Amino acid sequence: MLGNDVVAPHGPPTAERTLGELGYAAQDLAEIRRILHQPDGIVLAVGPAGSGRTASLHAMLEAIAPPCRRVRTIVDTVPRRGPGWLQGEAGDPEDGRGHDPLAAQFRRLLRSRPDAVLLAEIDSSEEAQMVLRAAQAGCRVFSALHGGRAHHVFSRFRAWGVAATDLADHLALVVAQRLVRALCRHCSLPDDSEAVRDALIRAAEGWRIPSAARDSVQVRMAGPGGCNHCRGEGYRGHTLVYEWIEVDSGVRSLVEEGVGAMELERRLLADGRSLWDCGLRLVVSGVTSLEALRAAVREPR
Ligand SMILES: [Zn+2]
Repeated sequence: MLGNDVVAPHGPPTAERTLGELGYAAQDLAEIRRILHQPDGIVLAVGPAGSGRTASLHAMLEAIAPPCRRVRTIVDTVPRRGPGWLQGEAGDPEDGRGHDPLAAQFRRLLRSRPDAVLLAEIDSSEEAQMVLRAAQAGCRVFSALHGGRAHHVFSRFRAWGVAATDLADHLALVVAQRLVRALCRHCSLPDDSEAVRDALIRAAEGWRIPSAARDSVQVRMAGPGGCNHCRGEGYRGHTLVYEWIEVDSGVRSLVEEGVGAMELERRLLADGRSLWDCGLRLVVSGVTSLEALRAAVREPR
């Protein structure tokens, strides 16, 4: 089945969000779109379970269709999305020869020369190696990784036996993300607590909040007891908090130099580009609360 070039007659279901609806800031969205339209490379979404990684990967794949029409997926929990996507299930029962079913399936899948492959999650040395081999063969690979921060992907792959330089050579984009509870607009209250003032002062010292945002701070907290709109929770829905790294020649040079995770973070995710800073901007604009951000993202010391 995987060798067939099937074009599904239906479009994507409307329940899932497009790339533009996920919650990226306009400038980030433009940059991410530009990177996605490059002809090759691995795209990784990093985060814990429930952080919306699959939705992001789907939206990214949709964003590059129709130029990228032959999409193959190895996932068993999400429905096929775009036209031209063909879904296989992880753990193909066809393989009874004692090989790892996923690896066998992946090999078959690559023989069908897809434009892009979506692998639900990389969670083993074998999967990491497969993804690298696919990218080396010129296939675009989209996958998720359980983890905390974007720059951690290099050490994760290293632990799986993939040299950071080999990964960097084929990695295009890493997005780390969380879903943070969004305040109910009907019952949230202004929050000028000491905790908020401290967090904002620390952010301002590190230039993590743009001065324009600092001038219009409207930090809010969940209203005690909530209201009818939020069923008494004070929060309604979630908002995306993210950080991203474009793996370009500059990043490859850093990796070749063998710089550690802390230095990578300092060089790539400073100046307001970290997960925490992204979240803090949403706190400052009243979208979420400091409490909700702290529940989802580790605060830098
Ligand atoms: Zn409410």
